[in-house]
Amino acid sequence: MEEIDAWEDLSNIPADPPVKRDLCEKCKRPSVVCWCSALPPQRLNPRSNIILLQHPAEEKRCLRTAPMLQLGLAENKCYIFKGKRFPASRHQNLEKLLNQPNTILLYPSKTAVDINELEHDFTSYNLVLIDGTWPQAKAIYSSSPILHRIKQVKLITTSISNYIIRTQPTEGCLSTLETAAEALSQLESDPVYREQLIEPLHMLCKFQLDNGAVTHQSKEFLLKTKTYPKLIGKRLSKLLKSTNEYIID
Ligand SMILES: [Zn+2]
Repeated sequence: MEEIDAWEDLSNIPADPPVKRDLCEKCKRPSVVCWCSALPPQRLNPRSNIILLQHPAEEKRCLRTAPMLQLGLAENKCYIFKGKRFPASRHQNLEKLLNQPNTILLYPSKTAVDINELEHDFTSYNLVLIDGTWPQAKAIYSSSPILHRIKQVKLITTSISNYIIRTQPTEGCLSTLETAAEALSQLESDPVYREQLIEPLHMLCKFQLDNGAVTHQSKEFLLKTKTYPKLIGKRLSKLLKSTNEYIID
């Protein structure tokens, strides 16, 4: 009898030792910084698909907003392909998607059409976004000839949230998430994307600010003393100068 009990005890021991840090199963982040509670109450289901062409360095960058986009949208609405040129042989189905007539590329070239003024020849689109810094995006574009044949659209907006711009914790982190959310809202004339998809990013920025990711001084103090843009890097500093209205409370 005792022997059986001992065996049962042993069989209850989990095969794998518990992970050191408690990771959220959904977003794969430590539970204390999990942003899943800020995801849309129900995954959003646009008519269009988002296709992210992601530079490999992007995955390691500060904010990593692509998972927020993927988890905020219905399961088959956001595809992520990684690489420096597209399509590569490992990118299953990408070439087919890129060749579809309803595929459009968000790329601010001279010939790009304002996404708001797109003639809606199709009920749904495959919206391609390049996820990386601007130099990375340009490099991907020039080494991926298939992209040159896709109709190009650009996003003209003044609605990039004050909050994100003012609280961006690290240089060069303006997000693909916000771009995609705004583009979807304009494309489908539905504000729900810009309203709901970016909430996890708000939560993350707030967390990083609260925990001194940028500085221990408050952003109000830094704005008053005009040291804020310097601390957050050249690229954002330039941006802040060009969008002055955003930094006035
Ligand atoms: Zn989570």
